[in-house]
Amino acid sequence: MIEYENLGKLNQPFFEEYQKSFAETLNSGWYILGNNVKNFEEEFADYHRSAYCLGVASGLDALLLALKAYNFPPNSEVIVPSNTYIATILAIIHAGLKPVLVEPDIRTYNIDTRLIEEKITNRTVAIMVVHLYGKPCEMGYVSRIVKKFDLKLIEDAAQSHGAKWRDKLTGTFGDFGAFSFYPTKNLGALGDAGALIMQNEDLFKKIKRLRNYGSDVKYYNEVVGFNSRLDEVQAGFLSVKLRKLDEINEHKRALAEIYFKELKSDFIKPFRSDDHFDVFHIFNIRHKKRDQLKEFMLKNGVKTDVHYPVAPHKQKAMLGIIEGDYPISEEIHKTTLSLPISYFHTKDDIYRVVEVMNKF
Ligand SMILES: *Cc1c(COP(=O)(O)O)cnc(C)c1O
Repeated sequence: MIEYENLGKLNQPFFEEYQKSFAETLNSGWYILGNNVKNFEEEFADYHRSAYCLGVASGLDALLLALKAYNFPPNSEVIVPSNTYIATILAIIHAGLKPVLVEPDIRTYNIDTRLIEEKITNRTVAIMVVHLYGKPCEMGYVSRIVKKFDLKLIEDAAQSHGAKWRDKLTGTFGDFGAFSFYPTKNLGALGDAGALIMQNEDLFKKIKRLRNYGSDVKYYNEVVGFNSRLDEVQAGFLSVKLRKLDEINEHKRALAEIYFKELKSDFIKPFRSDDHFDVFHIFNIRHKKRDQLKEFMLKNGVKTDVHYPVAPHKQKAMLGIIEGDYPISEEIHKTTLSLPISYFHTKDDIYRVVEVMNKF
């Protein structure tokens, strides 16, 4: 059986370094906002040549705190792709704002930049782009719209650690780059974790406060804050893994290359161009008989996954919150299939997946 993912196997190569880091943390006796978090924040900021980084509890919190930092008037509108993972939309709702969905480009699965402008109203305050599946959005046009309408730009880079648009890392285009270190992500912790990167000192101070009960000085609260801190144990693990991020991404890119070369043309493969340095958090194909294909693969010893089976506007939770039809998003959700592409998979694993796929 070829598994879709196996987090235990994925993390095996780091076992000894994790153990060492854990022992150091335990012995330090300092478990919240200590040196591990500070070091990881510095390393993650340096990786992005970003002025600041702050660790938070999760990717969802990173997005939520970024929005909260601006104190936008209630019900202000935030533009977001209609096929994103639900967390992007939840952050907008929890911030007391209104998600305005824009359809994706059917080739890239990222927001269709040509459709953004018509959704902008006098209540629009921000655009949240999502570099879905690890493929960077086309940022040139987005940056122009943001300037033209004086909007804030928040990047959901939860799936795109190390991905680049025209040689510039995702997360560094916007006012904020929001990251998740959920265990399956390209840079995954052994539990929940997230971070924001930013260039602006004022925003840095605001997030630092917001994540820690709205407090600068212990027991003195300046604003209504949250408890959303990256913890010391996870930060220690993340420092270990960050040193291997480029290697993890290169491994996934090499596996993707096999799919691109060997899969027959019945399957719609991911879009590629010289502008997109894709890190393949997910390698998806599309096929009209997706469910039958998934079944066939399983029968032949290959596990696959679907990202995602239900479009956000079709979720029960979004009843009365999101209106309208999003046919392109639905088409993607109906036809997409994610193939094995983990750090622990070998090239032989991928050739085996291809062999089964090409018999369908
Ligand atoms: C994983 C993910 C999130 C949320 O991250 P958590 O750490 O699980 O809260 C947000 N947006 C996207 C696109 C994601 O894939």
